[in-house]
Amino acid sequence: MYARTVALVFIAALIAACGKGESPDTAVDLPVRYAAVDLADIPTAEALTSRCESEEALFREHFAALEAYDGSPTIDSYYQSLDSLFSSLATVSSVAQSLGAVHPDENLRSAGEACAQELSKVASDMSLSRPLYDAVSRLDVTDADDATRHSVEKLLLTFRLSGVDKDDATRARIGELNDKIVAIGQEFDRNIREDVRYLELDSVEDLAGLPEDYIAAHPPNDDGKIMISTQYPDVFPFFEYADRDDLRKKMSITFGQRGYPQNEEVLRKLIEARHELAQLIGFNNFAELVTADKMAGSPERVAAFIDELKGHTGEVQDREYEVLLARLRQDVPEAEKVQSWQRSYVQSKVSREQYGVDSKVIRQYFNYNNSRAGIFTMVQDLFGVRMEPWETETWHEDVEAYSLYDGDVEVGRFYLDMHPRDGKYQHAAMFPFVIGIEGRQLPVAGLICNFPKGDEPLQFSQVNTFLHEFGHLLHWLMAGHQDWSNVSGIATEWDFVEAPSQMLQEWVWDYETVSQFARNAEGDVLPEELHKSMVAERDFGIGMGTRGQLSYAALSLSMYDRDPSEIDFDVLSKEIAREFTRFEPLEGTHGWAAFVHLNGYSAMYYTYQWSLAIATDMFTRFKKAGLRDVEVAGAYRDKVLAGGGSRPAEDLVTDFLGREISFKPYADRLRGAGKE
Ligand SMILES: [Zn+2]
Repeated sequence: MYARTVALVFIAALIAACGKGESPDTAVDLPVRYAAVDLADIPTAEALTSRCESEEALFREHFAALEAYDGSPTIDSYYQSLDSLFSSLATVSSVAQSLGAVHPDENLRSAGEACAQELSKVASDMSLSRPLYDAVSRLDVTDADDATRHSVEKLLLTFRLSGVDKDDATRARIGELNDKIVAIGQEFDRNIREDVRYLELDSVEDLAGLPEDYIAAHPPNDDGKIMISTQYPDVFPFFEYADRDDLRKKMSITFGQRGYPQNEEVLRKLIEARHELAQLIGFNNFAELVTADKMAGSPERVAAFIDELKGHTGEVQDREYEVLLARLRQDVPEAEKVQSWQRSYVQSKVSREQYGVDSKVIRQYFNYNNSRAGIFTMVQDLFGVRMEPWETETWHEDVEAYSLYDGDVEVGRFYLDMHPRDGKYQHAAMFPFVIGIEGRQLPVAGLICNFPKGDEPLQFSQVNTFLHEFGHLLHWLMAGHQDWSNVSGIATEWDFVEAPSQMLQEWVWDYETVSQFARNAEGDVLPEELHKSMVAERDFGIGMGTRGQLSYAALSLSMYDRDPSEIDFDVLSKEIAREFTRFEPLEGTHGWAAFVHLNGYSAMYYTYQWSLAIATDMFTRFKKAGLRDVEVAGAYRDKVLAGGGSRPAEDLVTDFLGREISFKPYADRLRGAGKE
């Protein structure tokens, strides 16, 4: 996941195309200031709040100067000044937002959230400013380069999609709604993050089936009870391995109640506010508004895409389901269905028995330390770069910091905050810290994950996630060398955002890559035969898995493509689950209440599948040339990653492939799964 911070929702979209590297002395009147934040300067909540307040005052002043400007705006003066404001706002806001998600001090987390929320008001006011819009409209871009022209056009579109051309009263209401949406969204996320629940077990016997180290990590407490939390590292192994069917069911219900009931009203308010906003701007619903500047372009295209993939996955889902049911019947002859809480457990058995893939065995070959080293090496070999430690302040002793170099040139910097802590963001995502501007500031980002530490075993799926998030990070750093902040970093269309990270995941299926780091405690390399079995097993479950993804995409779209008053969350989500999957929704659960994407991604969960279709297509070039082909990798880096948002994603990919994008390779993969 790419955690679009509040700043990026309102700013990246809006960030201006500003000045080319050197903005000379012509810019006399307007300030050019690129704010930088040193974590050492904000050790406490008070320090953060005070810094945030002083920055906000500076932003407001800068904004007022731009609004008051009555000369003839040029790229070198006006646009440069505006871009520096966008960049500064994004930096301070992103850092605040990120610390709000990860800092060990609860007060500082709240201060970070409050700061991001406050600054989003500045961004919202700017997006609704007629004087800014008019000045940018008057810019003469005839002599500008393509990226500058694209940046200006993109900014103008963002202004219009923000409602800048509406009357005063409407813009005032839009502003109120923007502020409200940020605050409600934060509440929605917080309710999920802070709602950690526990399944209480009476004895170690209840953990039968789970790996030794898991059992050792969950000793009985003083009352003799074993507590299993709904945090991912606890809950996912439990679903996969716990022999007790009744306990898996209980855990499923507990897990499916996170965020409920507190998020019912919050989600209602969120989709209502977004619906009103979209209508004020001139759209029928919020889904229309948010898809307008995406590759897909409209909710209808998204719905058609979901439907297309549904068509490619019906048979394979049925085939897979029958395999699970048959396996379940070996243990429970009277079983008529596979239930949702049985899926992971039974699927894991099929993988073991029919494919020889035992995740308990496989995980012995992976841990955080060797995976990180392996991923670093792979990226270094493929893209000709290297990682070096970056000596800097962080927010917790577990956090590591590195610099990425290409020869002598520093490409960017990053933090790795990879292990769970109380109160920390619970998923895996890349958080932007600083947008790179060529010649002015280096891109900085953080990977925020929740993996076991050091030499503790890592699930293979976690290695996958690690690589996926690392793909976002590389994209952010390599794309962070543009002149303007609204086209720098992951400033591409949102429905392309996941493609680079999804494609990078392909390398864990390459034995040459994996054998360089996958070693067990005795130092034995992951056997090639076992890796072959893993590759054979890889697409088992792809039908069910893709249908699950499509059901989320459909739910996310359906929350936003109609009048909110028509929506009953439980009814809608159950209807969709039944339409797409073979698993009956579990009574007493309300998965939508913890579906964190409904805030950050709103109607756009489809972007994962859309991006995957493109990733599969891009990968065809590597498949042909070989995964270690540095020439193809170099072309990919230069043409796709480094391009950032300077051109439409479709152009970047077409340039790399030498032909138009095709969804056929993905359709073929889906249809072909499990057939041979
Ligand atoms: Zn992602």
